[in-house]
Amino acid sequence: MISPGRADVAPASGVTYLDHQATTPLDLRVRETMLPWLDVAANSHATEHAVGRAASDAIEEARSRVAQLLGGRADEVTFTSGATEASNIVLGGLLQAGDRLVISAIEHTSVAAAADALARSGVVIERVSVDGDGILDLAAFEAALDRGVSLVSVMQVNNEIGTVQPIDEILALCAGSDTLTHSDLTQGAGRIACPLGSGRLDYASLSAHKIHGPQGVGALYVRRGAKRPRPLTHGGGQERGLRPGTLPVAACVGFGKACEIALYEMAADADHAQALQRTMLAVLSGLEGWHVNGSMDQRIAHNLSVTFADVHADELIAAVPGIALASGSACSGGAIGSSPTLRAIGLDEDAIASTVRLGFGRTTTQDEVVRAGGAIVDAVRRIRAMTR
Ligand code: PMP
Repeated sequence: MISPGRADVAPASGVTYLDHQATTPLDLRVRETMLPWLDVAANSHATEHAVGRAASDAIEEARSRVAQLLGGRADEVTFTSGATEASNIVLGGLLQAGDRLVISAIEHTSVAAAADALARSGVVIERVSVDGDGILDLAAFEAALDRGVSLVSVMQVNNEIGTVQPIDEILALCAGSDTLTHSDLTQGAGRIACPLGSGRLDYASLSAHKIHGPQGVGALYVRRGAKRPRPLTHGGGQERGLRPGTLPVAACVGFGKACEIALYEMAADADHAQALQRTMLAVLSGLEGWHVNGSMDQRIAHNLSVTFADVHADELIAAVPGIALASGSACSGGAIGSSPTLRAIGLDEDAIASTVRLGFGRTTTQDEVVRAGGAIVDAVRRIRAMTR
């Protein structure tokens, strides 16, 4: 007998969700567009019959929406399972032993670990440092380019500290050379403009669940005319052979809707996040001994990485059970002290262990931020009083 779904593992209601860099709540409008596709047996590749053709049309419309958010063309978009897969296809599908890859010191593990794997098969990796504000050192980057580089991969927005990298400058430095360019746009898409405008970015990675879309779907952008990566998997030739396998229709449709909403609401979402960030900073200003990590100018409004001196992040998170917030990067497996990003901007192990990440989004309210900020301030004071 098949047991029913377990209600006790569903998320607790009443939690204030401040972890929008880990994932974002599904927008209800996205959910609406997905529901019909969960109820039909529709394979978008079975175009001999009407249901398959309808699914194919829905997928192509979604592809156009993703392209519009990026500022690219539909035929430049390949659906993947997420940004991790997209970045792995770019790095693994373009590079071979002896090639040089330049990445920043603060890439997400989906790029950093893919680079480590390639290093084991003879690809030469160069990690360019960032300054104390978490912004790429452009002089060091330029010096690395002089040594001859096959591919550059620098993220648009860092997932831990929210800093925005100088992608236009990076692309300008690579212009006119044979160096291929990739950017992980996962945390920037839908929050700030995509850097495809210059026409110089060759590849990009994107994820639906960071823009209020469903989990398990994302996209790889390959500029028309750019060298095609070798596929990492082999199968039925879907996605023009680059990423074979049956596409999840509901997920792709939801991703398309999420992109459409993100494009039209980007300015309003950014204003909303800015107001939430200001409120959080105002609430925290009543407290001593804390600082925000990363540049205050070159950052998305949706993130605050905060170090509270003498307060272990685990203890703080345990002291505010009604608030979902992260210690370090949600993608580093929760291992405190292991954050290469926080180390790269100069934090010592104590400071790294005392750092939490607050992430705001479309669904966060001012009232939630005021209450959550107040609860964090109280908890920090209590913990310090106990340990000092
Ligand atoms: N890149 C960045 C910057 C991310 O924040 C994440 C998710 N934490 C990923 C890539 C991985 O995305 P996905 O979950 O779609 O594989």
